Amino acid sequence: MRNLQLQFEDENYPVWIGVRCLDEIISNLCEIRASSYHLISDRTVSQLHAGVLCQQLSTQTLANLWVVGNGESFKSLKTVEHLAQQMVEAGIDRGSVIVAVGGGVVGNLAGLIAALLFRGIRLVHVPTTLIAAADSVASLKQAVNLSVGKNLMGCFHKPTAVLIDLNFLRTLPAAQIRSGMYEIIKNALTVATENIPLLESGLKSDANYSDTELMVIVEAGLLAKQKVMKADKCERKEALIFEYGHTVGHAIELAAEGRVPHGEAVGLGMIVAAEVASRLGRLSEADQSLHHRLLRRNGLTVRLPAGVTVAAVMSLLRTDNKRGYVSARPDQVAMILLDSLGVPAGPVGKPLILVDASLVQSCIEDCLIGIKDVAVEESPQ
Ligand code: NAD
Repeated sequence: MRNLQLQFEDENYPVWIGVRCLDEIISNLCEIRASSYHLISDRTVSQLHAGVLCQQLSTQTLANLWVVGNGESFKSLKTVEHLAQQMVEAGIDRGSVIVAVGGGVVGNLAGLIAALLFRGIRLVHVPTTLIAAADSVASLKQAVNLSVGKNLMGCFHKPTAVLIDLNFLRTLPAAQIRSGMYEIIKNALTVATENIPLLESGLKSDANYSDTELMVIVEAGLLAKQKVMKADKCERKEALIFEYGHTVGHAIELAAEGRVPHGEAVGLGMIVAAEVASRLGRLSEADQSLHHRLLRRNGLTVRLPAGVTVAAVMSLLRTDNKRGYVSARPDQVAMILLDSLGVPAGPVGKPLILVDASLVQSCIEDCLIGIKDVAVEESPQ
């Protein structure tokens, strides 16, 4: 397995990446020497991968599998409390390890349980989606949702290790691979512009990537985040840039009630952010066009998802979790914008711009209800 060490100021942890490496994952887990292992997974992943992992791990040590429902609606304090209660009844102790086997939802949920149980026990991520493998495991943030907004209840908790078997990603539907690729595109547009040529030539709308390509994509995702997060472990300064596209994206994701993958919502959020920056005279036409080209190449339909209204999105924007970083009037939205590719708008260390809500609304209406069509010039290949 390949090894990367992720650094977050004074904290670090290893990421091991391999293909068809279940045995190595099990021996890595056993080396941690936990009093018991508590795998948390969702319904789909438990049947595909976590069940087998737990079964094989149980031949060597004490392991339990806890299964939650699929999707964002289970990323809640209710699930945290319910699971923690059951785990305590089953004998979990301070020497136990929580193992998150699943996508970003399971990772965040398990991360928060590990952080809160006994005021903090060890956590290992075994990510099974591209978003989780290439993005969310490279963060100390753990959070669950409230009905009024995403990721509003949480804390920071460092995993002990991240163990990735790219073979687990093989069972993902193409839409979920594309969902992860939106975060990789976001990283390229914001902090890793050197990856843009790779994306220009390598993005596939059918999301059919080889093991070697997936390895490159996952490493590129993790290393892009590292560029900034090694000096901002709490993601409250420069690393806020990774929230690019997330202001409107989170609102769309919540309004769609689980029907739109996280990354796709962020893709739509980036379309709106680029339009806002363009109207404010910040982003050039060519850079905006690149946004559209990469996102469409990854299969994005530039349209508000069915059943999602502009009014619902605007209302949800009022509870965005970036509120308070800068003091905004009720009719303003704090957004991450770009001045150009790789250059965040706003003061150094606080890449946030206050935008009139009416401008955001107009950009959503024009870009996502289909009035405005941005030219998508083909790049020279
Ligand atoms: P997810 O965990 O809901 O997974 C998406 C779907 O894929 C689910 O239905 C799941 O059952 C299914 N799935 C997972 N692995 C599979 C596999 N190998 N084969 C087949 N199906 C599989 O969502 P996600 O897109 O992985 O993550 C999104 C979540 O991650 C959001 O809640 C977001 O807030 C969070 N996130 C957190 C951070 C962070 O910094 N902590 C960063 C990015 C995203």
